Amino acid sequence: MDDRKRIALIAHDNRKLDLLDWARFNRGTLARHELFGTGTTGALVEAEIGVPVHRFLSGPLGGDQQIGAGIAEGRVDIVIFFWDPLMSQPHDVDVKALLRIAVVHDCPIACNRATADFLLSSPLLGAPYRSMVADAGIPAAV
Ligand code: PGA
Repeated sequence: MDDRKRIALIAHDNRKLDLLDWARFNRGTLARHELFGTGTTGALVEAEIGVPVHRFLSGPLGGDQQIGAGIAEGRVDIVIFFWDPLMSQPHDVDVKALLRIAVVHDCPIACNRATADFLLSSPLLGAPYRSMVADAGIPAAV
C-alpha cells in the first residue's frame, strides 16, 4: 500500500447518517486519500464533504461485490463498512462475501465508528504498508 490510500466507504441505510457524520468529522483526513463507495453511500459522502468519490454500483445491485473484487485485485486498500447489525439485507450473501475477502487479503476493514476512528488515526494511514500476511497467502497477481 502506498502512503495515499484507496479507501472504500459503504453504509447500509440505517447507518448512512452515522457514516456521513463520521465522514464530516474526518473530512480533512479523508481528503488526502482516494475515496470509493457503493452508489448511494458514495454520492451522499461526496455531497456531504465535497471530496470526489469514485462510485461503484449500489450495494444491493453488486456494489459490495465490486469492492470485494477491488480488494482481491489490489485496487482497494481500506474499507469502512457501516453494516446494519439489526436488520437483514437482501444482499446478505454479498455482505458476507465482502467481509470474507477482506480477511483473506488482510485488508483493514472497520465495521463500526470506533474502529473507523482508530483506523483513520493510525500512523500507518499516511505511510507505505506491506501486508506480510497477504504477501504470504496470495499467489502473485496474474
Ligand atoms: P448503497 O449500498 O451505498 O448503494 O446504499 C450500500 C449497501 O447496502 O451495501
